[in-house]
Order: sequence, then C-alpha cells, then structure tokens
Amino acid sequence: MPQHDKLFIPGPVEVSPKTWAAFTRPMIGHRSEAFRELYRSIHPRLQELFGTAQPVFLSTSSAWGVMEGAIRNLVGKRVLNCMCGAFSDKWLDVSRRCGKQAEPLQVAWGKHIDPQQLEERLATGDFDTVTLIHNETSTGVMNPLAEICAVARKYPDIVLIVDTVSSFSAVPIAMDELGVDVLLTGSQKALALPPGFSIFSVSEKAFARAAQMPDRGYYFDFLEFKKNQESDMTPTTPSVAHIHALESKLDDIFTEGLAARHGRHARTNALVHGWVHARGFEFFAEEGYRSVSLTCIRNNRGIDVAALGKRLRSKHHLVIDGGYGKIKGQTFRLSNMGDETEETVSHLLACLDDSLST
Ligand SMILES: *Cc1c(COP(=O)(O)O)cnc(C)c1O
Repeated sequence: MPQHDKLFIPGPVEVSPKTWAAFTRPMIGHRSEAFRELYRSIHPRLQELFGTAQPVFLSTSSAWGVMEGAIRNLVGKRVLNCMCGAFSDKWLDVSRRCGKQAEPLQVAWGKHIDPQQLEERLATGDFDTVTLIHNETSTGVMNPLAEICAVARKYPDIVLIVDTVSSFSAVPIAMDELGVDVLLTGSQKALALPPGFSIFSVSEKAFARAAQMPDRGYYFDFLEFKKNQESDMTPTTPSVAHIHALESKLDDIFTEGLAARHGRHARTNALVHGWVHARGFEFFAEEGYRSVSLTCIRNNRGIDVAALGKRLRSKHHLVIDGGYGKIKGQTFRLSNMGDETEETVSHLLACLDDSLST
C-alpha cells in the first residue's frame, strides 16, 4: 500500500491491499455469463450473512439510496421513524421529501429506542412502516434489535426496515428469524469495502407491499431488482469493481469464520472500552446499549479534540473522528470495524496516549 493516513473513523474505514487488488481486477460485461457466474457464486454466502432465504440485491449507490428506495417502495399510509442520532433522525426528513406521511419516535442522542414506546406508537394503528437504525453510528448506540423486532412482529400489516450499515457482520443479524422486511448495509463501514455500494434483502411481505405501491421509481424499484436477480443480474450497470471486492471480502469472512469475526469485534471493542475507563473518559452511549463496532467517547475531560486528531494524524498517520453533527468536539469516535485486530487497535490506543500527552 502507498504511504497513507489510516482511517479509524466510523466510515469509510481502511481498505485492505487484498480488497484493493480485487477491486482493480479486469472489467467484465454486466450482461455476460462471467458476471452471472460471479453473482451466482456470491449469492449463497450473502444469504448466509443476512440470515435469509430471500434474494440479496446489489445496489450501486451508497446506503442512502436504498434507505430512500425502501421508503418509496413501502410507505403507503404512514411511516414511523425511530430516531436516536444523526443518521436515524435524517430518515424522517428523507421520508417527508419522498412525499410520505412520517412521524418521529425520538429519543435523546445517546439513548436507545425503547421497545415499549414503539409498541405504544404501533398500537395506534396509524403506521404501515417502521424505520430503524440498528447501530446509530453518530452516537455509538446499538439498539436492542431482537426486542424491537419482537414488537414489530406483533403487527402483521407493518413492514420493518432496518439499516445495519455499521453493524453488519460484526454481530449476528438473522433477518428471517427476526422478521425484518428490508435489511440493508453499505460497503464502506462494517464490510471495509470502498464507498459507493450497498447490499440489501427484501421479505415476501415487503415485495407484496411494493407491488401495490405507485411511484416506486426505477433505479431502486425492489421488483426490478427481484426480476433481474432471478437471472443473476442487476437492473442497471453495477459497479463491477465493488462486486469483485465483495467476493474477495466474502472469502475473508468465511475463511475467518463468522463466530471468529464476531469474537474479534468483541475483543477489539473491549480494548477501546478498557482504554476509555483507564484514561478517565466516559461513554456517550448509555450503558447496556453500546456498539461493539465503534465507540463514541464523551469528552468529559475537556480536551482539545481537534488538536488531538491533528497530532495523531501528523505524527502517527492515523485518523479518528472528532464527533458528528451537533456533538462535534463534545465527543470523538474510534472505529474497530472491518479488518482491525487486537494488534492494530492496541497500536491506535498507544498512539492516542502519545498524542494526548504531548
Ligand atoms: C454512514 C451511514 C449511513 C449513510 O451511508 P452513506 O454511505 O452516506 O449513504 C447510513 N446509516 C448508517 C447507520 C451509517 O453509519
């Protein structure tokens, strides 16, 4: 790899030399047998990662494309947007910009979505769709997915859209068992691929809803994706380079093993948590609901976060995040997504110590 500043921000994250090598493989035509073979070969492993028997789709867009697409495909009556941070809050605005009736279920940043509150809102009968961000990347909150899905499953007329952009493959997420109707993730965070690509899966219930929905558009029409996937293709010309990189990443993931991958994320995250405690910092996310793939650290010591980031970058060529949106400077975030190991995370923490003490 050329000399570069290594990203420990919560996305995009460092892309490995092996992944880059796959990304730059010679091009193939997207209507060729070679492409169909490629899609066919990765599909069972994608289904296993998603925990689904449903088709898994390849979208040449960042995650927001699929997030907006899900709204356009599925919201008939009204959507309830579960909001606990910058990404989940924005989904309300996006829903309304799509011309949909949308209501917030808002909790304070740093708090989790409460299944009880969700239950109360769904019991009104006002909604046919719910959006949830599993791992709210801006605050470091990991929402209680199993409990939230258990509530949603009580309402057969409701479809549940779940964004797992920063948690996918870092923890087990079983779409079919949970009853998730759209599960989506982006490329540049938990999967450590270059940005600009997303993968998602759609339940039968969601396909049936989409079929009734006018104005789905074309680029993100779930039924177009379904029709094309049946012959191992995508509706439009995909980023073939991303799919080559994804194939390489799936090799990595299944060589390591899913349980080992989850364990590695737990251990690297525990190293960061230990450092936070030992250095007298606090967590922004409430206890019991902290992400295992990134850490949002409360700047209770009142350090100059921007200066810390600058020293870390200029001396050690490592990049961290100085807080997102309205909590910039009051927090900073460290990622342990993707390929990071105990060795690389320990190195980051040692460099942070050095940069804090100078
Ligand atoms: C980064 C992120 C997104 C947005 O991804 P884009 O690639 O910018 O579209 C959505 N949801 C979560 C949880 C994220 O972390």
